[in-house]
Amino acid sequence: MNIKTNLTTDEVLTADTHLIQSFADLDLLKQNDARTVIVGAEGAMVRDSEGNELIDGIGGLWCVNVGHGRKEIIDAITDQLTQLDFYSTFYNFTHPAAAALAEKIAALAPGHLNSVYFSNSGSVANDSAVRILHHYNNRLGRPKKKKILSRIGAYHGSTHLAMAMTTPGYSEGWDTADSLVHHLKSPHYWREGDGMSEAEFCDTLIDDLKQTVERLGAENIAAFIAEPIQGAGGVVTAPDGYHARMAAVCADYDIKYIADEVVTAFGRLGHFFASQDVFGHTPDIITTAKGLTSGYQPLSATIVSDDIHEVISRPGGMFLHGMTYSGHPAAAAAGLANIALLEQEKIPEHVRTTGKLFEKTLKGLGDNEIVGEVRGSHFMMGLEFVKDKSSKLAFTPEDAIGLKLARATQKRGLIARPLGNILILSPTLIMSEAQIGKIGDILQESIEEVAASL
Ligand code: PMP
Repeated sequence: MNIKTNLTTDEVLTADTHLIQSFADLDLLKQNDARTVIVGAEGAMVRDSEGNELIDGIGGLWCVNVGHGRKEIIDAITDQLTQLDFYSTFYNFTHPAAAALAEKIAALAPGHLNSVYFSNSGSVANDSAVRILHHYNNRLGRPKKKKILSRIGAYHGSTHLAMAMTTPGYSEGWDTADSLVHHLKSPHYWREGDGMSEAEFCDTLIDDLKQTVERLGAENIAAFIAEPIQGAGGVVTAPDGYHARMAAVCADYDIKYIADEVVTAFGRLGHFFASQDVFGHTPDIITTAKGLTSGYQPLSATIVSDDIHEVISRPGGMFLHGMTYSGHPAAAAAGLANIALLEQEKIPEHVRTTGKLFEKTLKGLGDNEIVGEVRGSHFMMGLEFVKDKSSKLAFTPEDAIGLKLARATQKRGLIARPLGNILILSPTLIMSEAQIGKIGDILQESIEEVAASL
């Protein structure tokens, strides 16, 4: 069979006019050809169609945790497809790969989280969490307990429901399910906590939750959803103790806590799951994707507590929810092989030291004139740039500061992700100390170049 994928750059760009990119200014893309065609990858590096070797500073898209080109995962996928290409997990069917991966995830997930619903993206994992909880409350005879509390700055995905749970900035111009979703205050101390200590700021966030619950009525609220560290909202870490305190309030009101660990699980913060091991609480549901297969196959999981699984399994009718590719054999095989690598190579443990070095290296850039805040943890970091450091005056969209910086780093061999005035770094978890040092140097030179050009 002749499937032609070794195209020249020009051939790709011509073919690419038929491709609708995600989160892109489609008009700008049409006008210029500033696209990078990635054709190969190995370890912590990727290669573009012009032969440039680049450090993958964003790990694909916060997902290639074990690094690129791992033969163990590729072989597992091929073996699985040879044995069983596809069967669904609908009705009374199952297959070995999906069952074995669900069992493995249950063993790794904290405490009472023992049941897994698979889908193919973080967005659908979050939608599934909500649908499962709606079904749960219907089963308990509480059909009004359906609303979801989310937060300003959250990113939960791009399906209609996940977008409604995402911070409103991402859904401008779209109609969302706003009668269903309510946004609590942003936990971003640096931007929102002026005049307060971090502990006082945290108190205001807890009060916001309590007041919102009292206003809407706990009997109408199914869940609170939160990322341990807000990712695509700007890599925002919450004040110390915030998550455990929010979880305790939710428990008091019988509101389920959904931890969106689409980014933070599978080693990025040094543990398989961050909620319990890093933030000290056990949610009722964890959603995850990305690092679950390190991106080798599209797969996500909604991991629910024994209590939730018991209620939705009671007699009384169908669980009317399903995705054709839920637990796809090739994706499940990729997940199993990926977890085996994370365990065998002790990658989460490795992250606890190299990830800390990465964090320290990036925080060292904070002295630069235009760097307002360097934030995040381990291999999940963001740099926010400001026009004026003391007043935290933001750059305008016309300044295109993130884009300029991303171009400057790419020219020097590093892919970083611009997000407005923020530059995101979320590399593979297998970075060497030398590569971490190189990222620090490239960022420093790029910041100096862009600052001087302003
Ligand atoms: N939740 C979080 C925290 C995410 O970062 C993302 C994607 N970046 C999603 C959900 C959505 O995942 P997907 O793009 O796979 O739908």
